[in-house]
Amino acid sequence: MSLFRTVAPVVLLASAAYLSGAALPVAENVYTQDIDRSIKPGDDFYRYANGGWLARVTIPAGQSSFDTRAILTERTGQRVRDLVQGAAVGQPAKGSLAQKVGAYYASFIDEEAIEAKGLEPLAGEMATISAITDKASLSTYLGSTLNTEVDGLTSNADHIFGVWVNQGFEDSQRCLFHLWQGGLGMPDRDAYLDSSPKMAELRAQYQTHIAAMLKLASAADSETKAARILSLEVRIAQAHAPDSDAADVFKQNNPWKRADFDAKAPGIDWNAYFKSAGVAEQPEFIVWQPSAVIGTSALVGNEALEVWKDYLRFHLIEHYASVLPKRVGAEDFAFYGATLSGAQQPPDRAKLAIAATNAALGQAVGQLYTQRYFPPEAKRKAQAMVADLIAAYRVRISNLTWMSPQTKEKALAKLAALRIDVGYPDTWIDYSTLDVVRGDAFGNMRRAEAFNRSRNIAKLKQRADPDEWRIDPQIVGAVIVFTPNTETFSAGLLQPPYFDPQGDSASNYGSAGAGMAHEITHSFDELGNIYDAQGRLGNWWTTEDAAKYHATAAKLAAQFDGYCPLSGLCVNGKQVLTENIADLAGLLVAHDAYVLSLKGKTDTVIDGLTGEQRFFLAFAQRWRRAQDEAALRRQIKSDTHSPGQYRSGTVRNVDAWYTVYQIAPVEKLYLKPEERVAIW
Ligand SMILES: [Zn+2]
Repeated sequence: MSLFRTVAPVVLLASAAYLSGAALPVAENVYTQDIDRSIKPGDDFYRYANGGWLARVTIPAGQSSFDTRAILTERTGQRVRDLVQGAAVGQPAKGSLAQKVGAYYASFIDEEAIEAKGLEPLAGEMATISAITDKASLSTYLGSTLNTEVDGLTSNADHIFGVWVNQGFEDSQRCLFHLWQGGLGMPDRDAYLDSSPKMAELRAQYQTHIAAMLKLASAADSETKAARILSLEVRIAQAHAPDSDAADVFKQNNPWKRADFDAKAPGIDWNAYFKSAGVAEQPEFIVWQPSAVIGTSALVGNEALEVWKDYLRFHLIEHYASVLPKRVGAEDFAFYGATLSGAQQPPDRAKLAIAATNAALGQAVGQLYTQRYFPPEAKRKAQAMVADLIAAYRVRISNLTWMSPQTKEKALAKLAALRIDVGYPDTWIDYSTLDVVRGDAFGNMRRAEAFNRSRNIAKLKQRADPDEWRIDPQIVGAVIVFTPNTETFSAGLLQPPYFDPQGDSASNYGSAGAGMAHEITHSFDELGNIYDAQGRLGNWWTTEDAAKYHATAAKLAAQFDGYCPLSGLCVNGKQVLTENIADLAGLLVAHDAYVLSLKGKTDTVIDGLTGEQRFFLAFAQRWRRAQDEAALRRQIKSDTHSPGQYRSGTVRNVDAWYTVYQIAPVEKLYLKPEERVAIW
């Protein structure tokens, strides 16, 4: 279980009509034209809701599936492209966000200027590496590379160690220094240690890549050096924690005092290291993978200085490959793009430039984006819906039969403390001290890294901020952070038709509302039950709670076991259980919240459908997806989410669905009241 979980953006809904620019329906989130009225809702609710769309839609060439989430991502990407490129050609005021964003992009895309400088931008740091003469100067250099870009999802930081500044596992008030393993050029430990021929071949290719990069930097004897660098990385990998440890957050909670580093992990000159990293005064640390700190430090002590220096030269050029001449970028793509990721050709420069601008100036782009596409009114609408969801959840938890009274108290306290942020942050990152200079792609990247690093290090002296944003507003996505107890839904996600601030409220609750309530559930279920109201570690369910929960959950697993889209291919109810429970809870809570939002009034009828009918329709429409058979087989085999047609079938467990669609016992989806499952 990961401490910090990105949540795949909740599946979104959009229609072909919307895409083709045909006349929009009354609201951008009501799709009655997609209904197949020849199918009874009670026989196949997914095809009733989506039959029209499924009949029209074709899977784009070269892809195995097509859903509305891809469409929304594409649309948002286009908007961001237009904003960033617009800033680059305009004449924004010096020092303004638009100037920084535009200059960052323009410099990155200016390949001629990059080409003209050659490898000169690296000269200063190459000289620093060459000047390393002993363990102390090596430690000083390594400290200067400590990178603060890591978060609770990273398994391998960019440099030998990474730091995540975040609240503690036991102390939610202060920001602490979480130290992370890193230093591998390939993605993880297995790539170095797996003895299969496939992985051995990959290592050989990586070694060739290292040699090629060193050659580009005019290093003599690059082949021998590459072999030694790979061998060093293999030994770093041996010290890395195995994946099974990474899955257990309790194993990561290792508080070390400053003196522990000298005592437990000799090799690195820790005084020099921490001083150079800018944290000489830091008294306490949380070491996520002690074996990696001990092992890597020992290697600093034992390995020849020259090997470390070559290792550092290689990683330096690799790290900045995107802002160095084309020959470097091409070699970088040959290994990371083609060999590792199977890409046929490199993404175009503009695409890379947009990604780099987002990475360096995420909240600056986010401000430009939300000023244009997510006004304060949209945020207020989303907040109002969140308030209804929380109110509905409170009642649900209070009425649970499987949870003991003491556990309920803890769950309610956690719900009360849960921060849900929507759209964009109230307080933006202040970029005023970050200089972005046109024509200096390399310098811009360096300065942006230094800016982010000192911003993060400065947090060590501040109180932990539960409202800190960990996802950029222009991303189509959501994120759950268990430490602190926070969930964030970005403006990129909260847009029509998934969420339409001016559109149909019933549909908003059925799509975005159910999606948000699904994510809220994870803070209380078997993912979130080891983090308390302040995000501190500690399981707050009793053994008895868990036993009762699992007994009811088994019924839902059995229900999904019965779904077999192809002969011999059935859903594995256990594999998808956690997500199905969250879907069910999300639907129930969102329905309660929708009813609450009406305050006793009756909703209007649109296209012959009542508000409650549209609520369930929107729920079924958000799961639609066209996919080929191979993709369906892959999903059933390995995904923890069921295929959309079965997720939309969650409605079978909800009494209100039977009432509003007048489902008869003879219909295929009908479940007797005692067969319907309710967990939350
Ligand atoms: Zn989920």
